[in-house]
Amino acid sequence: MSDFTGLVAIVTGGASGIGLATVNRLRTWGAQVAALDLKPEGLPDDVMGVQVDVTDDIQVKAAVDAVVERFGRLDVVVNNAGIGAIGDVTVNGDEEWARVLDVNVVGMVRVARHAIPHLRHSPAASIVNTSSIVAWAGVGQRALYSASKGAVYALTLAMAADHVREGIRVNCVAPGSADTPWIGRSLENTEDPAAARAALDAFQPTGRLVSADEVAGAIAYLASPLASAVVGTVLAVDNGMHGLRLRPRNL
Ligand code: NAD
Repeated sequence: MSDFTGLVAIVTGGASGIGLATVNRLRTWGAQVAALDLKPEGLPDDVMGVQVDVTDDIQVKAAVDAVVERFGRLDVVVNNAGIGAIGDVTVNGDEEWARVLDVNVVGMVRVARHAIPHLRHSPAASIVNTSSIVAWAGVGQRALYSASKGAVYALTLAMAADHVREGIRVNCVAPGSADTPWIGRSLENTEDPAAARAALDAFQPTGRLVSADEVAGAIAYLASPLASAVVGTVLAVDNGMHGLRLRPRNL
């Protein structure tokens, strides 16, 4: 694959999990890649790491400008940085709502805001946002997180409409439970992490979690010129969890 040859990509949250897998997928397919992250550590040598908090507009603008300064162009933005929140609506207070929405939603807006003037010059401009299965399936104890990812889905559609005529495609992925350090941290907080992991695997239609690389493959496809007619789409990478209703084995 060399569909990204000559193209330059930014991946937020690019130092871990789905973001890091996307960084690796894009560079393997020929892109020059910058990973924007709170902790841009452990990246391959050929990846530009930039320390950025996506809640800080000045830092985001400086990071986008630095990438364009270094590579001379910008073609692809993967808006992937995100954080979780657990609880129903009685649990999280206003400050937590503001904090999570600031990272998960407004963070993507900030990156897009500063990237779009550069993307307008690209012949293969694309933005891919990381939403989640919780945007379109009710999952217990995820009220705030679900609201943030539902907003990412709606934002993706609105951005796609706003920018399609200037040649910028916007899409999103909706991963199910993906095997990343994030899930690892969640499992560590349970009484029996091994049993919780087995239960989570068994809960999947395929009997196993989605891998970070499987999500990265979907992101890279949407970002690539291969998907040049794909606009305003949400691509589920969820083991079929959203769309399938499996019968019990003995029925
Ligand atoms: P992860 O925790 O492994 O990686 C997230 C990365 O984002 C980290 O490197 C972190 O430093 C960075 N980050 C967090 N806040 C930031 C900020 N304010 N500014 C800059 N960088 C910041 O998580 P992951 O599982 O790879 O998740 C990546 C994305 O995928 C998130 O948007 C998440 O909501 C989404 N997602 C994950 C799953 C899953 O099961 N893992 C499922 C659906 C959607």
